[in-house]
Amino acid sequence: MTSMAEYPPVQENIFTSGESPYLLGGYCAACEIYHFPAPEVCSGCLGEVELVSLGGKGTLYSITTIRTKPPLGLPKPYRVGYVDLQQVPLRVFALLDPVEEHNLVIGQTVQLEVARLGLNSENTPCLRPYFIAANT
Ligand SMILES: [Zn+2]
Repeated sequence: MTSMAEYPPVQENIFTSGESPYLLGGYCAACEIYHFPAPEVCSGCLGEVELVSLGGKGTLYSITTIRTKPPLGLPKPYRVGYVDLQQVPLRVFALLDPVEEHNLVIGQTVQLEVARLGLNSENTPCLRPYFIAANT
C-alpha cells in the first residue's frame, strides 16, 4: 500500500489527512466569522485570522456535475457543490465524491475524505479533499 504521506497536499493549510480528516480555515475573533480557505487577513476587518479546524462533516446544500474537460487531472465528469459545515456556521464550495456517481442527494450528511486525486498547480499528483456520503 502506498502511503498518502508521499503526496503533497493540493494546497497547504486547507485540510488534514489523518484518519478522520477535516478542513482547516481561518477564524476572526473580532468579527466572529470563519473563512475557507484561510485568508491572510479577515475580509471583514482586515485583522488577523487564526488557523482553526472547521470539522469534517456537513450537509450537502447543492450539487452540480461538470461534464466539460476537467482541469488539474480530475476525473470526467466530476462533481462540485456547496456544503454547510456542522462544526462551524460556514458554507464551503467543495469537490464531491469522484467515485460513486449516484450516491449524493441534497440535504444528506457528508463527510470529508482525503485521497490522491488529480494534480496540483505544479502538475504533480497530490492529496485532495472531497466530500462523500457519511457513514452514519
Ligand atoms: Zn474580522
